[in-house]
Amino acid sequence: MFENIGGKIKGYAKAVFVIEALGSLAGAVAIAVGIGGFGGFMMFLISLAIFIIISYLSVMFLYAYGELVENSAKINKNTEELVRKINMVAETQGVRPVVVQNPPPVNRHILSGPWRCKNCDTQNSDSDRFCKSCGASRD
Ligand SMILES: [Zn+2]
Repeated sequence: MFENIGGKIKGYAKAVFVIEALGSLAGAVAIAVGIGGFGGFMMFLISLAIFIIISYLSVMFLYAYGELVENSAKINKNTEELVRKINMVAETQGVRPVVVQNPPPVNRHILSGPWRCKNCDTQNSDSDRFCKSCGASRD
């Protein structure tokens, strides 16, 4: 349901634009008929242009947002693919694999002093980032 949400947002923006453009046409025709004659025709062109521009501006940001969501999903997928490929090479070379992590929490620096491993309850010193007994991460 929420797969390819960026593409769906773009599709929705396009649909809204089409509906608004049709509304603009109807509105411009109504104005033209109301005025009549050559003046009515001129007002038809002017109002249609203005309505279409307003419609475009109203959906432009929504469309751009859809594009942004779609592109970030692509970047995310490419990054995962890249890490997978690097790790395949790392494995054949016996190198430590790349681990994609979330950035460390802001309060990281506040943590100081000895700490107890969540995994095996070993006491570790402040300088240890990983448990000296089981290798689990401090965070
Ligand atoms: Zn441990």
